[in-house]
Amino acid sequence: MSKVTVHDKTFGVFIKREEILRRVAEVAARINEDYKVLNPLFLCILNGSFIFAADLFRCITIDAEISFIKLASYKGTSSSGNVVTAIGMEEDLHGRHVVIVEDIIDTGKTLHSFLPEIEHRHPASVKIATFLTKPSALKHDIKADYTCFEIENKFVVGYGLDYDKLGRNLPDLYILDEG
Ligand code: 5GP
Ligand code: MG
Repeated sequence: MSKVTVHDKTFGVFIKREEILRRVAEVAARINEDYKVLNPLFLCILNGSFIFAADLFRCITIDAEISFIKLASYKGTSSSGNVVTAIGMEEDLHGRHVVIVEDIIDTGKTLHSFLPEIEHRHPASVKIATFLTKPSALKHDIKADYTCFEIENKFVVGYGLDYDKLGRNLPDLYILDEG
């Protein structure tokens, strides 16, 4: 399928599943190398990262653990704006090597608001693995340690990412058709 319709919008195929899997395996190989004896904890941010997390984790060959959390944002009392907190975090992060698994870093706002919550739990280290980044949309000082693809500032869907709740099941990544 080179075109799909999700709700009212048309998307064209952007990155094929085979290329995605090749790249995910490359990133996993780097993580295998970097975390050899550290038993990292992959902390995956739902919902968007679930497909990426599954493919990435299957390529991890060292001892590693995985857990899934949802983020909820609420208005903080300080001037720092929204606070993002984790729902379903049962893991003790103290002394752990944490790899946050995200679907996409767009403005960086989500991770910028959430990282303090992680640091607060005194992990030994925190790194970020993301399927996508949009460098030209970035507004916060967030840098991914492992990125599969850097893309232009356009809306994408598929491979776990949704457009108004639909499209997550598309195996390839699609980009919004303009014009
Ligand atoms: P942030 O701006 O905080 O870095 O990203 C916020 C969230 O916006 C992401 O986790 C993702 O859910 C959503 N998002 C940003 N860009 C896209 C995109 O191109 N497609 C989809 N489906 N979601 C996006
Ligand atoms: Mg997300």
